[in-house]
Amino acid sequence: MDQIYDVLIIGGGAAATSAVLTLKNRGKTSAIVSNKEETSSLYKAEKITNYPGLPPMTGAEMTALFRKQAEAAGATMITGRAISVMPMDGTFGVAAGSDYYMAKSLIIAAGITREKLYPGEAEFLGRGVSYCATCDGMLYRGKTVAVVGGGEEARHDADFLESIGCTVLRFEKNGKYEIRGGMKADTLVFAGEEHKVDCVFIIKDTVSVTKLVPGLEYENGAIVVDRKMQTTVPGVFAAGDCTGKPYQLAKAAGEGNVAALSACDYLAGK
Ligand SMILES: Cc1cc2nc3c(=O)[nH]c(=O)nc-3n(C[C@H](O)[C@H](O)[C@H](O)COP(=O)(O)OP(=O)(O)OC[C@H]3O[C@@H](n4cnc5c(N)ncnc54)[C@H](O)[C@@H]3O)c2cc1C
Repeated sequence: MDQIYDVLIIGGGAAATSAVLTLKNRGKTSAIVSNKEETSSLYKAEKITNYPGLPPMTGAEMTALFRKQAEAAGATMITGRAISVMPMDGTFGVAAGSDYYMAKSLIIAAGITREKLYPGEAEFLGRGVSYCATCDGMLYRGKTVAVVGGGEEARHDADFLESIGCTVLRFEKNGKYEIRGGMKADTLVFAGEEHKVDCVFIIKDTVSVTKLVPGLEYENGAIVVDRKMQTTVPGVFAAGDCTGKPYQLAKAAGEGNVAALSACDYLAGK
C-alpha cells in the first residue's frame, strides 16, 4: 500500500467503467479492484443490442472495450477479490487477496452474486468463519483451521496460516460441506467426515456485497441508495446491478456516473 486513492471502486463492469471515466474528468485518482472479467454478468451476454452508441456485440467484446477505456482513463486496475472493507477515520481500507488498499471514498459496483451459501457459512461468519486469512489469520495463531477452496489464492492463504503457526487442514475441492458449532464454529463436515477446527477460511471468487462493508443497509439483497447513489455509510456509494433491478447495462452506466459525481461532492466537502 503506497497510495491513498480518491476513490476505490469494487467491481469492473459497466458501472465501474462509467464511474472511472467521470472521475478522470473531475481530476480524481481512482482504482478498480475486480475479479477476472469472465466473472461479470456482461461477459456472459451473448449479444447486446440495447446499449447506446455501440453496435450489437457480444458481452465479451463489450467487456474488452470497457477495460480499454478504464485503462486509458488512468485508473489503476487491480485484479483480485475484495474480501473486506474497513472504514477508519475518514478513509477506507480494502483487503483484496493478501494486499491492502486505501481510499478516501468507495464505489461498490460489484454486480450481483448468484452464490450458493453452504450450511453454517452465513450463521458463523465472523465467529469462526472467515473469507480473509490476512485479516483474521492472527486470531487463530497456533490453532487448527481449515482452508476450503482451490487455486492459487487458497494455497497462498493456507501457506500463510501455516507460517504463523496454524495447523491447516486443506480442502482443495469446493465440494459439499457444512459448518457446525455453538456460539462459534467448531466443526467442518466435509464429504461426510467431521473435522474439529477453530476457524474455517473459505476462499471463493466472489463475496456477496451484503458481507463486504459493515453498516450497509440492504433490501431484498440490494444495497439501499438514494438518488445520489449514496449508501447508508457516508463516503460509500453504490452503482449497477448491486443496487437492484432492472439489471441493465445502461442503468449500471448511468448509476456509475452519478456515484462518481457524488463521490466528488463528498470529497470536496471533507
Ligand atoms: C446472460 C446475460 C445477458 C444480458 N444481456 C443484457 C442485454 O442484452 N442488455 C442489457 O442492458 N443488460 C444485459 N444483461 C445485464 C447486464 O450484463 C448487467 O446489468 C450489467 O453487466 C451490470 O453491470 P455492473 O457493472 O453492475 O456489474 P457486472 O457487469 O456484473 O460487474 C461486476 C464485477 O464485479 C466483480 N465483483 C463482484 N464482487 C467482487 C469483489 N468482492 N471483489 C472484486 N470484484 C468483485 C464481479 O466479479 C464482476 O466482474 C445481461 C446479463 C446476463 C447475465
